[in-house]
Amino acid sequence: MSKVTNFKDLVRAKLAEADEVFNLSKDVDISSIDIDCTLKGKCAGRAGYKTESGSRQYYLRFNREAIELHWDEMVSKTISHEIAHIVAYIKPELRAKNHNRRWQLIDIKLGGDGSRTHSMGLTPARKMKTHMFNVDGMIVEMGHIRYTRMIKAEQTYFVKHPIKGRTMVMYSHYVGLK
Ligand SMILES: [Zn+2]
Repeated sequence: MSKVTNFKDLVRAKLAEADEVFNLSKDVDISSIDIDCTLKGKCAGRAGYKTESGSRQYYLRFNREAIELHWDEMVSKTISHEIAHIVAYIKPELRAKNHNRRWQLIDIKLGGDGSRTHSMGLTPARKMKTHMFNVDGMIVEMGHIRYTRMIKAEQTYFVKHPIKGRTMVMYSHYVGLK
């Protein structure tokens, strides 16, 4: 079995435990909570809900890289951390919000340590595209936001060319993505 499959089983088991302690089933069908392990970037996990035709669809997202490389911390801390957020959403009467004291108590009850942040070194999400231009032999890089403004003719950009001096970057100079 893959690590992700094992991890999802542990999340389900912890949800069942949370249900026993906080009686979540009174308000939601916990089997309908969506569990996904494809999160990228610096966040170890995320909990939330979408509102669809008046009812809440809860979800739990976990970082794929963290599951692969930091299994112990993900299992011992992140699962309870994110489920504590779910408990807080389902049970507003507990008055747990964000990472306040009442949220910490829920996390601790679920076997966590009440910590707000993790210490796993995760790879930042991939940065936005960089576009390259060849302005009379001079390579110019441009971020995606500036590039889009230029393409839409909302903004013009100039560079200081070593021979030609101040030169406007034009789409005809475009050579592609970095
Ligand atoms: Zn949190």
